[in-house]
Amino acid sequence: MIEHLYVHIPFCPRKCSYCAFVTHVGSLKLMEPYLRALAREAESQAEEMPGGPLSTIYFGGGTPSMMSPEQLSRLLATFESVWSLTPKPEITIEAHPSTVDADKLGRYMQSGANRLSFGAESMQSGELKSLGRQHGEDRVREVVEIARWAGFSSINLDLMYGIPTQTRASWRDSLHRVVKLRPDHLSLYPLSIEPKTIFARAWRQNALHIPDDDQVSSMYDDACALLTAAGYIHYEVANWALPGHLCRHNLAYWRNREYYGLGVGAHAYLRPYRIRNVEHTRPYIDRTLSRGMARCESVYLDADSQLNETAMLGLRLLQEGVNIRDIREKHGVDLLVRAGQEGRRLLDAGMLTQRGDRLLLSESAVPVANEIWQTFLSTSPKVMSNTLSTN
Ligand code: SF4
Repeated sequence: MIEHLYVHIPFCPRKCSYCAFVTHVGSLKLMEPYLRALAREAESQAEEMPGGPLSTIYFGGGTPSMMSPEQLSRLLATFESVWSLTPKPEITIEAHPSTVDADKLGRYMQSGANRLSFGAESMQSGELKSLGRQHGEDRVREVVEIARWAGFSSINLDLMYGIPTQTRASWRDSLHRVVKLRPDHLSLYPLSIEPKTIFARAWRQNALHIPDDDQVSSMYDDACALLTAAGYIHYEVANWALPGHLCRHNLAYWRNREYYGLGVGAHAYLRPYRIRNVEHTRPYIDRTLSRGMARCESVYLDADSQLNETAMLGLRLLQEGVNIRDIREKHGVDLLVRAGQEGRRLLDAGMLTQRGDRLLLSESAVPVANEIWQTFLSTSPKVMSNTLSTN
């Protein structure tokens, strides 16, 4: 049964310099029709592919914290009536530090949300400015305190490394400062220059100065050492958590479970299809309100493609790994046989370890994970992509 739901809320106060997410910046005029479209799409998806009860709901963006508590409450009531919820669902809201206060977070909590994910990005004001963020590092400290006061016992902070003006020393300082705040979960991402962003333009004009690959790799090593010493579990390539605070929703992605996905630009995995919605807000609203859905792509995955994904995603889980016995039973494929001599070499070199039925990527191999994943992929999966009409 499908028990996970992703909901995309595209509205943002302003566009950050590195951002390539599907966003709708500035006005909130479309928020109400957008929420109506989400409710309609929920009904359509549930009708097409029955599932539930939901054990996780993740509001990502964009900036979901631009929703009022009443709007959040209404949406959650709709999802509960469409799918029903398990007794203790994990309900996460991504929040921009400049869009929340104590009253709002308290009322989010009353609406049923129980996990917050703040885009802190850095603990250095100069770096935040270079990213085009609207908050300073003091604000990160304040919102964590406010969130605790409001009753949230599970808080994530996102941080970025490899960003303009950053040095190894400033990165380490940011890590020390966040660890003092004791968030329950940390997601750390290297900067990636995505097309059509402010940074991409600056890069083309030679006006973007960022740390080189060796420095970025050292920053990753710094994070591994410092966070492990602080008691965090490095459970996924880019994610660390205190015991008991692993993100259940994201675990479902890495375990290759199915999930519903609602909203503009949202992805869903309704086996055997990976589905993607249109990427502009107004057409999403109009099409969904009139037809129930606004998809632009549906990709059929055959059994071999599903196996490739399961192996690749499972290897991201550094403590859990990929279960080779499950794969053998389900797909009739022995991953180690498939990896051949190269697999043996990776095991001998300590880049991979085998623990019973589980195959795990070692922390030191994360910087070369992309090459390692290739070793386990079949070269002949059949993927059929159907680009749907967006008229
Ligand atoms: S707040 Fe997040 S989604 Fe919005 S523009 Fe900034 S990075 Fe992009």
